[in-house]
Amino acid sequence: MLPRLHEHFSLREFNSFGVEARARWFCRVREAAELAAIAADPRFEGLPRLVLGGGSNLLLTRDFDGLVIRVEVPGLRELDQAGDAWRIEVGAGENWHATVERLLAMERPGLENLALIPGSCGAAPIQNIGAYGLELAERFDSLLAWDFELGQTVTLDAAACDFGYRDSTFKRELAGRCVILSITLSLPKRWQPVTGYTEVAQELKARGVATPHARAIFDAVVAIRRRKLPDPAAIGNAGSFFKNPIVSREQHRSLIAHHPSLVGYPLPGGRVKLAAAWLIDAAGLKGVTRGRAGVYEKQALVLVNRGGAAGSEILALAREVQDKVAEKFGIALEPEPVIV
Ligand SMILES: Cc1cc2nc3c(=O)[nH]c(=O)nc-3n(C[C@H](O)[C@H](O)[C@H](O)COP(=O)(O)OP(=O)(O)OC[C@H]3O[C@@H](n4cnc5c(N)ncnc54)[C@H](O)[C@@H]3O)c2cc1C
Repeated sequence: MLPRLHEHFSLREFNSFGVEARARWFCRVREAAELAAIAADPRFEGLPRLVLGGGSNLLLTRDFDGLVIRVEVPGLRELDQAGDAWRIEVGAGENWHATVERLLAMERPGLENLALIPGSCGAAPIQNIGAYGLELAERFDSLLAWDFELGQTVTLDAAACDFGYRDSTFKRELAGRCVILSITLSLPKRWQPVTGYTEVAQELKARGVATPHARAIFDAVVAIRRRKLPDPAAIGNAGSFFKNPIVSREQHRSLIAHHPSLVGYPLPGGRVKLAAAWLIDAAGLKGVTRGRAGVYEKQALVLVNRGGAAGSEILALAREVQDKVAEKFGIALEPEPVIV
């Protein structure tokens, strides 16, 4: 059945930057049959589509002359007890952080490092969400999606999703084609803490936790994030606006020669992931304000809506950041959110 359709619908409440933009059409979807009905409706043939979860990784720079599909598929269930991992299927519309917390309460740990990441479970595979030493890919079994091209649901495993750093096939080969309906997580029964990330280790130490359990890691991650990231409910933002750039060993060597305090993390194979926040700060942009958009004072990787900003103002600031970092360091910063 076709879901209820809204015309000229404001998306202000549906994006964490809190910018105004209108959708020509808007609907909420809870099951595959509604997507089949959309696919069969001639009004939407050839019309651009935008799939929306929590809108926390999105910058809307204009009205959207197409159909916005907000995914609200509910549910959480454990699939089986066999094997060495718990397999848990979660509806794409479920809130990510609430799911992490709920699973902890069910004694199904494994996602605690990814606590407090805003947004929906269905969006988690899109950029292979990651934080504090863990990525979704490490806890992922498969997903169920509606494929508009095939006109049917498909199941994709981790290999088919082709996860990378803040990347997956949904940003490349399958871009714009699939609506994720549910994800199945794979949580190892022999849980091991992930505490290699310095900030997490320091926070646990400061809290006097010598042998961390999952709840302690969850609490530590929540505390770190609350300290350094703005709450979108108070200050519009989409978290990190740029990916951390990855450079070759040689490029890193030559950068370090000129900028000895440059922050980078070695990767297997000799490449180095640079802290984009350091580059932005060193380019003199931390805390700046341009019109109603700004670079967050406490974390230069985060662009913020200082109140009433248009998406185009935030985009102009993002371009200024890219230009200045390119000029000073010869490095191209790539945006992390989807820009529409
Ligand atoms: C304060 C803050 C902190 C953040 N910290 C992190 C972090 O630590 N690590 C991290 O990885 N990210 C982080 N993010 C980014 C964001 O929370 C994640 O990318 C999250 O997964 C986005 O979920 P969403 O439901 O809001 O997606 P949306 O913003 O609604 O959508 C993002 C993209 O996914 C697509 N999409 C959404 N749902 C579906 C679906 N069901 N099927 C198909 N496509 C879909 C959209 O079309 C869009 O391309 C942060 C954001 C904020 C505001």
